[in-house]
Amino acid sequence: MYLFVSTINEAVIDRRYDNPKILSGPVLTNSPNAVLSKTLLGRYNDLSLPADSILATYIWIDGSGEHLRCKDRTLKYIPKVPKDNFTRVITELNDKYISKLNANLKWKHAKEHSPPYFCPKDLENVFTIRCKLRERENRNSFDENLKDLPVWNFDGSSTGQATGHNSDTFLVPRAIYKDPFRRGNHILVMCDTFKYNMEPTESNHRVKCQEAYDKCKDDEPWFGIEQEYILLDSDLRPFGWPPGGFPPPQGPYYCGVGANKVFARDLVEAHYRCCLFAGVPIAGTNAEVMPSQWEFQVGPSVGVSAGDDLWIARYILHRLAEEYGVIVTFDPKPVQDWNGSGAHTNFSTKKMREENGIIEIEKAIDKLSKVHMKHIKVYDPRGGKDNERRLTGLHETASINDFSAGVANRGSSIRIPRLVAEEKKGYLEDRRPASNCDPYAVTDALMRTCILNE
Ligand code: ADP
Ligand code: MN
Ligand code: MN
Ligand code: MN
Repeated sequence: MYLFVSTINEAVIDRRYDNPKILSGPVLTNSPNAVLSKTLLGRYNDLSLPADSILATYIWIDGSGEHLRCKDRTLKYIPKVPKDNFTRVITELNDKYISKLNANLKWKHAKEHSPPYFCPKDLENVFTIRCKLRERENRNSFDENLKDLPVWNFDGSSTGQATGHNSDTFLVPRAIYKDPFRRGNHILVMCDTFKYNMEPTESNHRVKCQEAYDKCKDDEPWFGIEQEYILLDSDLRPFGWPPGGFPPPQGPYYCGVGANKVFARDLVEAHYRCCLFAGVPIAGTNAEVMPSQWEFQVGPSVGVSAGDDLWIARYILHRLAEEYGVIVTFDPKPVQDWNGSGAHTNFSTKKMREENGIIEIEKAIDKLSKVHMKHIKVYDPRGGKDNERRLTGLHETASINDFSAGVANRGSSIRIPRLVAEEKKGYLEDRRPASNCDPYAVTDALMRTCILNE
């Protein structure tokens, strides 16, 4: 008898507590002692780096459409500081001194470092990276930085994105965030991926999403995504669950308080702070229905940046979890008969947010009702297969086969929040996307169905 079956890193794991063993897929190694690795790095973290260099972590979605990869490089390039970070710069005297020094050095390096770096000469124009307009002021100066960042490449045959004999795959910088791990001027760079012939790779849903957003910018589509996830111990059992059994039934854990209700609150708090520091607009966080299940909300973010923000938030969470020696799973249903994990996507347009916007909301719901299965196909990375386990009609979900909508109804596909119904304006909540969805694909589908009438 299986107590539960889980898919982590493509491995199928037999979850019998007395004898957990991996049935297929790669064997996971335990992360090193979290405290030790923290101390080890701590000894070297304060070594000063060359004043004209920063470290950039290029982050991308691999061939699974679900997992992230990253690699680091040194750039002789100093990002412009976001406008509202002046206060921080002034308080951090050391940083201020360094950036002054950098400003003097910048001219010298400007020529050397114009993009693209690793790009075939005749394709340079393909990678003219445009500044994106974002709502929040403090992002603008970061977006200006984008055009200074080089295109890079990686071995796509090791990430499920290319064949071995033609493996060079391109990374195109799309959004910059401050690096909460290295801090200072160091940056995280969200990239999308292109094949040797400059076609987007199969798992690159960002290109289409950007296209959709470009066509409906004037409608100002906003997205707020509620990312649910579950923490696992290094033995792949939910973190903090009693050895050899289950915790008491779900009920006291949602928004719980107390050591017997929630686990790893410190990790969650660290994630919240790191995201805000990085420039990811976290709206809030809460403990979820299953012990060791949590949620954070990103947004509202405008258009394609919702996807950038959520992927970077996921990256930061995985990185922090490495330090804590736990594993984050976005699998939508790791434990049978307990609540699964979703990525409820809250969506509005300018018209929906104006007086009597409820009419626009109802129009959008009507359109969504006609293409239910089309959306289900892009709401998880396996064409709906993952959501089959989660959207059962139980555990605060609607059945995967039926479309439904309702005010304050958490058992429907689309929910109109109570306050939105009362105020007759606001947004709708699409409860169908799975926790491991690609937000570029989800927001793309919503823009195309509800705004572009495709
Ligand atoms: P729930 O009641 O479903 O748990 P949450 O409070 O967890 O809702 O999440 C609500 C999300 O909706 C947040 O991410 C928030 O940023 C987002 N949101 C709020 N207003 C809007 C809006 N007008 N358009 C899109 N998203 C919105
Ligand atoms: Mn929520
Ligand atoms: Mn939730
Ligand atoms: Mn919700």
